[in-house]
This record gives sequence, C-alpha cells and structure tokens, in this order.
Amino acid sequence: MKTLIYNVTLFDGKSRYLAGQNILFDENGILEISSNDMTGDADHTIDGTGLSCLPGLIDLHVHLTMDGSPNAMNQLVQDSPGIAAYRAMVSAQSHIEAGVVTVRNCGAKYKIDMELRNAIEKGIITGPRIFACGQPITMTGGHCHMFGIEADGVDEVRKAARSLLKEGADFIKLMATGGGLTPGVKAGSPQLSEDELAAACSEARKAGKRSAAHAQGCEGIKNAIRAGVTTIEHGVELDHEAIQLMKQYETYLVATLAAPFHIVKNGTAAGIPEFAVKKNAEAIVPHRESFKNAYKAGVKIAAGTDAGTPFNVHGDFVTELMLMREQGMSVLEVIHAATYVAAEVLGIEKETGSLEVGKLADLILVEGNPYEDFTALRRVKKVFKEGICMFEQIEKPVLNYAQ
Ligand SMILES: [Zn+2]
Repeated sequence: MKTLIYNVTLFDGKSRYLAGQNILFDENGILEISSNDMTGDADHTIDGTGLSCLPGLIDLHVHLTMDGSPNAMNQLVQDSPGIAAYRAMVSAQSHIEAGVVTVRNCGAKYKIDMELRNAIEKGIITGPRIFACGQPITMTGGHCHMFGIEADGVDEVRKAARSLLKEGADFIKLMATGGGLTPGVKAGSPQLSEDELAAACSEARKAGKRSAAHAQGCEGIKNAIRAGVTTIEHGVELDHEAIQLMKQYETYLVATLAAPFHIVKNGTAAGIPEFAVKKNAEAIVPHRESFKNAYKAGVKIAAGTDAGTPFNVHGDFVTELMLMREQGMSVLEVIHAATYVAAEVLGIEKETGSLEVGKLADLILVEGNPYEDFTALRRVKKVFKEGICMFEQIEKPVLNYAQ
C-alpha cells in the first residue's frame, strides 16, 4: 500500500531539513520525495501540516531486560527467563512509541535479546529492529559478571565470542573496564586486556559483525580502540591521546550521557544503591568534558541512552539527545547521530538511517519542528517501520459533561 505524507517538514537525517515536502512510500521503500503533487499515486494520504518527518530513530545502547527501577541490576539478576522475556517485549514497545525503530541491545540475561529479535523477525510480535549481542563478555568478576560470560585469556575470550556468534549475536559486547552498576568493581579500572579484546574483535570482524566496548577509564579505552572495537561505550575519561586514537582508528563514541544524569539526579533518596550513586557522581563531570572534547576534535559521535539503568526508562531518547546538545552539538548534528551515524555503526546505512529514495521507509512523524523546538521530538504522532505503521498516537476524545 502506497502512503503519501504531504506538506511535511522533512529532516533527512544527514544534514538538512526542508519545509513543504511530500514523501511517498510503501513496504518496499521510499518511492519519491519532492514538492510535487503525488496524491494520484497514493492509496492513503496523511496531512503533514504542522508535523516533521524524520528517519526512524536508532538507539545504540539499550538494555531491554532492565526496567529503569532504582536497583535495575538486582531486578535483572533476579528475573526468571519468562519474566525477562515479557519485560523485554514491553521495553521494546516503549522504544517504538518514542520513534525508535532500531535498537542495539548491549547485554541481556539469558540472551533474551536474540530471542526477542527472532520473534519480531518471525512476525510473532511487532517491535523495533533489534541488534542483539546476547551476553557481554567480561573477565572473571568483571563488570556485569552477574549476567555476562566470564572469560580469561585470549583463548577463552575467543571461544566466548565464537559461541555467541554461533548462537546468532549481531555484535560482540566487551567489558574493557569496570562500571558504575557492578558492586565491588572499580569503575574506571582496566579489565579485559588489549589482547583479549583484540581476539574478540577479530572474531566479530571475520563474521562480518561489529563490536562494542564498555570503557570508562582511559587505559581501558585505549586498549579497546587499539584492539579494533567499533564503538566506545560511555568513554568517561578521554585524554588527548585517546581522542587522537579514536580519530586514527575511526572509532565511534556512544556516550550514554543520560545514564549518570538520571542516577545522580535521583540519588540514594530514590533507592539507588549508594555505591552506584557515588561512582556515577565521580564520573559525571569528566564524562561531559570528554564528550565535549571528542566532539570538538571531530570524533564520530553516535547516540545511545543505556536505557534500562536507574530512572533511564525505555522510551525516553530525548533526554540523551538534549544532553548531547548541551555539550555543544547542533540540532541537526544530534539528529544525524541518532539516525544516519547510528546506522553506519550497525552497517545498515545503505538501507536505513536517512530519508532518501530507495531506502526503507523507517520514518516517524512528530508534532512541531525540532529545529525550532527540540521538545517536538517528544511528541511522536506516528511511527513507520519498513512502510508499516507500528504506532499511532490516538487523540483522546474531549469529554463534555456540560449541562
Ligand atoms: Zn549499558
């Protein structure tokens, strides 16, 4: 079925936006974008007046099996496989309703992300496109060891990576340093060594897949870059050398500024464990400085939230995007980071990530113009994945009890 959205402000996901555009698409892709009248070609039309059309958003760092509760790590560890699956399904739907058509899940319990991806691909349920890593690979006692695969030494890490790829992982997630939500682990300390990281990255590459490293401290970040990871997650302590290495290796930064933001904002009073609040409070200032410096130096920035961590709920992508803006990125750069650049990270930039003829019709409609009012991105009206409407905001009827 051919759908036409007419008279809409169109953000292409690359570098520009244009008012008064018409976009015609179907399940196979985008057929035409122009200011020409295409009403005669459409089976179904949508008036885009007052709306903006953007590529379906891509969140590169989510945890679908974590619920954003104050002690989300405990929740994740305690969930049974059934509960984890239902929770992931609900989280995935929240992303769709926020205009996020593609997510990269950076670690789940029981490899539920792979199962959910398969269920969506089989058409059993609807949901976003999921890139799943299954479980992260971590050293014995390392960050997220409670639900990751513990592996020590090059051979064990290689075996873990190969096993995950065999089971259907779309990318490999590696723990290069400690992290803020694992008790007893120093947040920035180096964990998997450069050799161990390189073994896993090389296995991913051979399989035509990508890799991501949780990396907070400087030494671990550099290990991960030199090992050849596709993305540095968090990147709390980036010194000059780390930034230069990221440029040299063309490593992307997925900062997840929203994760420490929500933890520090809500604190122990809201029930977040004290160790997590303390580690995140220490990280928040260097994290933002690192992000700003990386951005200014021209490091490739892609968007990810770490959704599922305390108070960082699924379906709130905009807080992350606003924090990226606060560090100096322009509206169009932020949209680019959450669409086209994120698609590049996943290797799907030829299929999606921008609004261009021939690409998949992954697109969203929001009320207003984000260039003038960024909060327009919170007012998602319709969401299309491959030309099919996945979500439509229903106008609530105005009840009139007047006598
Ligand atoms: Zn994470």
